[in-house]
Amino acid sequence: MKTTGVMIPTLLGRISKKPVTVLYPFEKLEVPPGFRGKIKFHLDKCIGCGMCAKDCVSAACIMIEKDDKKRPIFDMDKCTFCGQCEESCPKDAIEMTEEYELAHLNRGEVIVE
Ligand code: SF4
Ligand code: SF4
Repeated sequence: MKTTGVMIPTLLGRISKKPVTVLYPFEKLEVPPGFRGKIKFHLDKCIGCGMCAKDCVSAACIMIEKDDKKRPIFDMDKCTFCGQCEESCPKDAIEMTEEYELAHLNRGEVIVE
């Protein structure tokens, strides 16, 4: 067939190249610079201003009161990983980490506080 003749050089060329896929989860790719994964919250830096919750695009970040202090909590099920809360925080209390393995069975299980 005509297409087979066209495909053979392409296939042979691919055999000598390194695969572009990896055997996840046994092997993992490095995430690119600026990747926005699971949020890490630094309570010690937080002043309870509420800017993160105010600017959150999906209501994933809400303010609560705990131990007489206002502080945010983050529901990773609602988070769109936009990074706006990290941008808005005046105290660098929010960090978007490189962690991307967030699969879980039930909603609301991954709350960052
Ligand atoms: S990354 Fe975006 S969606 Fe997620 S908590 Fe922050 S502002 Fe909200
Ligand atoms: S914006 Fe930063 S300092 Fe203000 S409540 Fe959120 S985490 Fe705390």
